[in-house]
This record gives sequence, structure tokens and C-alpha cells, in this order.
Amino acid sequence: SVVTRFAPSPTGALHIGSARTALFNWLYARGRGGKFLLRIEDTDKARSTDENRQAILDGMTWLGLDWDGEPSSQAANATRHAAVAHELLAKGAAYKCFSTQDEIEAFREMARAAKTSTLFRSPWRDVAEADHPDAPYVIRIKAPREGQKTLQDQVQGDVTWSNDQLDDMILLRSDGTPVYMLAVVVDDHDMGVTHVIRGDDHLANAFRQNLIYEAMGWDKPTLAHIPLIFGPDGKKLSKRHGATGAAEYQALGYPAAGMRNYLTRLGWSHGDDEFFSDAQAREWFDLNGIGKSPARFDFKKLENICGQHMAVAADAALLQELQGFLAATGADPLTEAQKSGLSKAMYCLKERAKTFPELIDKAHFILTDRPIEPEEKAANHLTDVSRGILAELTPQLQNASWSRDILEGIVASTAEAHDMKLGKLAGPLRAALAGRAVSPSMFDMMLVLGQDETIARLQDAAD
Ligand code: GLU
Repeated sequence: SVVTRFAPSPTGALHIGSARTALFNWLYARGRGGKFLLRIEDTDKARSTDENRQAILDGMTWLGLDWDGEPSSQAANATRHAAVAHELLAKGAAYKCFSTQDEIEAFREMARAAKTSTLFRSPWRDVAEADHPDAPYVIRIKAPREGQKTLQDQVQGDVTWSNDQLDDMILLRSDGTPVYMLAVVVDDHDMGVTHVIRGDDHLANAFRQNLIYEAMGWDKPTLAHIPLIFGPDGKKLSKRHGATGAAEYQALGYPAAGMRNYLTRLGWSHGDDEFFSDAQAREWFDLNGIGKSPARFDFKKLENICGQHMAVAADAALLQELQGFLAATGADPLTEAQKSGLSKAMYCLKERAKTFPELIDKAHFILTDRPIEPEEKAANHLTDVSRGILAELTPQLQNASWSRDILEGIVASTAEAHDMKLGKLAGPLRAALAGRAVSPSMFDMMLVLGQDETIARLQDAAD
């Protein structure tokens, strides 16, 4: 069965490109009843921090990318990685190299002068153990020097490399620590990883890693190297284009379901489908839908898809996620009264909001208390005439039963009596109920606020 993994280095927060890599691995596993594992590649001790590790886990949790089991630490497996280097040595697939840094540098300088390859060719490759000095050494793999190698990649197709581009890479440093390239292969093998889906910046590494698989006689995982994400201008996505970290998107208030949908479509396609559910994504996602050329990040499309997800989300789930958004941004938690107002209003708030800040903005009429202080644009609607009309409305509303039809009837007949279009009353009503010129519809606000609160706000404005 399928086992995928996400293997971030905790040298920075979760980049949106890495989040997409995680998402693809997650979708591939989850759509096939497989496992999705998380391995923290923390071998670069100087640059790996606990904060970054936590930020990666938080970002994945926000995006709903749950992993199986505990996250593993690559650094914790160093003994096992070193053991494999020694196994390769024992098999004759690797050798001890005693060349010093100075010697290697001298080799390179000569090669540069002679305009030959600067890939280091160790003189120790074929020296017998008996002739070894008692000195520090590294363990290097014996890479083939002639011919070429073709690897099948599910995204890139057949990729061929000439073996003379491979050096005898170091597996174990002179202090006995394993190198990253060895650690990845050993961990992927030990974790039973069947599919390696990662950025195509690792394509060259695949050829080096392949040497280790072959020397150990291990089954190789299926490879899928996905193109990078570009900005709208076709250059590598960077701060210049906008937010790059998953946490930044969370703080901007994009709903996780919309983000997942958008990131799934970023570099992968299923016909013309743009908007889909998680269940559909899991069912449809496949490696052959991944494009060969870099996808361009389109902020408008992201917003559009987020808006569609908001509109169809369950009210209770949205309220829950809104609270998560407030917590993540360090805002005050909602009061019980605000929660109950929001859950009553959610049906109309979610209709046109694309992000949580937009939703909160539309919810202004619930989140503020009397007396409502109208903004300038709204206050302009409260003329003597319109305040008179509000005063006329209140006794009628006092006797009304509180349903949309009845409320529409009352407002419409009042407008008619003054020879006005219904829409003309929206301005003063919005000003009275929300203190805003732009808000949800007057009837939605009245229904959500209820009879007493609506009348009180209209009276405040009429006075
Ligand atoms: N740690 C690597 C990175 O963050 C990923 C290596 C891999 O997926 O094989 O780019």
C-alpha cells in the first residue's frame, strides 16, 4: 500500500510551496488508503530551530494535513545512517578517502587551470585497506564514471544523466556524521516510503540518491518531482509577489478549505474543475494530473475559490474556524453573545465574504453594541426626512410578527407612502442598524438582531 512523506527542513517557517508539496503527498496517500508520514529533516543543527519545527506543524494543522504517527526526527537516526555507510564500505560499494581539504582544493585548482572537470576524483578509490594510513577519513560512495542513467519520473518523464556528472559523494564525514543525502535514502527506505513527491529542485539529488539504493539493493520509490511555484510575473514566488508563508495566509484570513482547494489546483488539474470538495480532491488526485511547467500563483483566483468555499461551508464550522483565526492573530476571543449573534447571522455573512476579515467586517452590526455610532458615509443618510420615516416605522414594527415577508411588506408600504423606491430606505436603515453605508441587507440584519434590538436601534437613530 501507498506510503508518502513530507520531509521539511526546519530552517524556516512553512513556505507555501512546501505546503503544496505536503498537500500533494497527503492527497495521494489519503486518496488511496495509504499512510502520510512527517519527517523533520533537522540534520543542519545550526539552522534548525524548535520554533520552525512548531511553525511547520502548526501550518499543516491549519491546512488540515494530518500525518500518521509521530513526526520523526532525521537527526535522531544518525547512528542508523552511519551504520549503512559502514555496510556500503563492507560491501565494497564505498571506500575510505584520506584526502585532506587542501589536497582536494589543489585538485580543483589544477582542474580549473586544465579546464577539465572539477569533480573530485579521489586517489583512494581503489587503495587496499592494508595501505591505509592511520589518519582521519571520510567514507565515499563508488559512483560509476562512465555511461548514463535514466530515471523514470511521474511528472518529468524519463530523465537521463551522464554518470561523469556524479562524483564519489561523501556518505560519512570524518567526524562520523552522516550526510543529508544518505540520511534521506535510509529514512525513506526504513519508513517504507513508496512514493517520493517533492520539488523539482531535488531532481539532481535523485541521481545521487539512486546510487545508494542500487548499492544497497533496496527497492526504489516511485518519483514525482513537481515544478516550483511562480508568481504572476513568471518568476519564482517571493515576498515581492505577496505572502509566501502558510502562516501569513492564515493570518490574512483565508479559509483552510479554500486554501487547500487552491493549492491543489496549483500545478495539478482535473479537466476544467476549479472548485471542488476535499472528498473530490482525494478521489481525483493523481500524479499524471501534475503539470510539467511551473504554476503561477494567482491571488485573485485564490480569493475567488475561498469565497466559494465560505459560501458553502456549514455555519457552525465557519464559526469554529473564525475563532481559530482570531486566536491565531492574537485578537480577543468572542463573547458568548457575539458567538450567538454570529451563528444566527452566519447564513448571510458567508455569502459574499472571501476571507475572515471580510466576514468580520460584514458582522459589524452584531459585534457593536448600542448606541450605534454611524460612520460619516452612513450618517449622511440620516437626514431629517429619513429620521422621520424611521420614527414612523417603529410602531408598525412593534406590532409585526418577525418574518421576512412581513418586514419586507412594512418597509415597502412605508416607502410607497412617501413615494420612494424601497432601495432609498436601505441607506437610513443601514445607518441605524449597522452604522455603515455598506452592510448585509436590511432584512437580514433585522431578522438577526430581532425585534427589540431592531426597534431600539431605529429609535436611537430617529431621536
Ligand atoms: N528536506 C528537503 C527540503 O525541505 C526535502 C527532501 C526530500 O523531500 O527528499 O527541501
